[in-house]
Amino acid sequence: MTFQEKIKEYPVTLPASQGPLLKSVQDWAFSNGLTMLTDDPATAVHAPVTLHPSPFPRSVFDESIEAQRGFNTLYSKISSFTNNNWLDKIIDKLAPSDPDFTGKLWETHKLSLVDGKPIQPLTLGLFRSDYMIDQKDGNLTPKQVEFNTVSVSFGGLTSKVADLHRYLAATGAYGDDAKFDLDDIPRSNSISELANGLAQAHKAYVAQNGAQKSKTAVLAVVEKHEKNAIDQRHLEYQLWDNHGIVTHRVSMLEATKVTEIRDLDGVSRLYYNDAEVSVVYFREGYSPDHFPTQAHWDARLYLEKNRAIKCPSVYTQLAGAKKVQQILTDKSELLKFVSEKDIGPLVNTFVEILPLGEDSEGGKRAEQLARTEPERFVLKPQREGGGNNIYKQDIPGFLEKLPKNEWSAYILMELINPPVIQNHILRKGELFTGDTLSELGVFGTVLWNSENGEILHNDTTGWLLRTKLESSNEGGVAAGFGCIDGVYLV
Ligand code: ADP
Ligand code: MG
Ligand code: MG
Repeated sequence: MTFQEKIKEYPVTLPASQGPLLKSVQDWAFSNGLTMLTDDPATAVHAPVTLHPSPFPRSVFDESIEAQRGFNTLYSKISSFTNNNWLDKIIDKLAPSDPDFTGKLWETHKLSLVDGKPIQPLTLGLFRSDYMIDQKDGNLTPKQVEFNTVSVSFGGLTSKVADLHRYLAATGAYGDDAKFDLDDIPRSNSISELANGLAQAHKAYVAQNGAQKSKTAVLAVVEKHEKNAIDQRHLEYQLWDNHGIVTHRVSMLEATKVTEIRDLDGVSRLYYNDAEVSVVYFREGYSPDHFPTQAHWDARLYLEKNRAIKCPSVYTQLAGAKKVQQILTDKSELLKFVSEKDIGPLVNTFVEILPLGEDSEGGKRAEQLARTEPERFVLKPQREGGGNNIYKQDIPGFLEKLPKNEWSAYILMELINPPVIQNHILRKGELFTGDTLSELGVFGTVLWNSENGEILHNDTTGWLLRTKLESSNEGGVAAGFGCIDGVYLV
């Protein structure tokens, strides 16, 4: 049976009386921290979830998982100082077209160097590569939506959703008609695996600096009113439970007040009270909204310019620019980092991405396609966090108004058209049923030395499925368009 035939058997019909199922979901979510905070920080709601895991082709799932270590390696090499300033040249060119964000990050990176080098050569990446299923010619493959190098989210909540779906299936909560084999509803171990990544970096810091384990801590840099704080907390608690490592949470701006830099043996070390900070884990700073004043940029520089390992460094954050993703679709560029024999699993996930505002052949082609066939494309700026893209018919009008000197801050990407699946989404206790689209994220953890490119640790660390109603262009869960799902492998 093909995937298309299999999904015809979906949706799984709901039991005649839905009350017990919905109650079961909510109680499980509250009991297990599958929750998000609300505008009132003293109140939580269950995270938006699908009732059933979405059917997902096993081959696409496996291919996505298998590509991850290669992508981890690729992005560690891009953000090392061993590649003839490959990234420097790209960002140098990109910065003037986006001075308020890319430009400021670039300036921050350069100011953080001492004698042209980072104070801490080790960098930690908690990455997430996102895919949609492409179904050209009936052949199903994962196509990469984007590669995230900063503040990747939902590594905490996704583990919980897979466990919730397994629990519902095991207890018969879906009713007699819904038969799931638990072997086909895999768990996502991202909580423990991502926490393990932070622990590896912490241990590397302790080994490197002779710091006492009892007097070191991880510093999580978080937004002040973060609704997705519970997602982050799961990693923090696991870091404590499994590794005995304490995490302190501060906002970027607060950090300059509650931490200090002490100069020991000629090295600037970051301290939170008496604890030497081993790793600074950034869940803030991925958007220009997080930098309303110069003091915020100063704080980001302050956090960068010391011995603590950064997850990620500003340089690694810049490597995640959508411009970089576009340039890597040129095979000759990719071959600068990955050998011919290893590029297959990576290239197979690429769709066409074109530069804008360039006199090159690609640039001219993009300009023409944006005018003549906009319905096939999405236009993306150098931004993260959802809600920033321009879609289809909106592209020509948008470009018309965009000053020419800002065009090169955008890329034009072919739209991926994943299969549509009927599912039920539960959001704040309210049930929505309809056609949905899904995006798979694969987490990866890599610890490397940016001075010599040596990789100390490289792992695939779980996955995430986000699902949105087909009627919405974007699937941001935090932004309010989508929900967290699990996979039912078929
Ligand atoms: P961000 O860094 O803001 O998350 P993305 O590149 O992930 O930016 O785009 C946001 C959303 O837009 C994605 O989650 C997806 O729903 C949609 N999207 C982006 N690129 C494509 C594409 N090529 N085809 C289909 N949908 C896309
Ligand atoms: Mg992103
Ligand atoms: Mg995204």
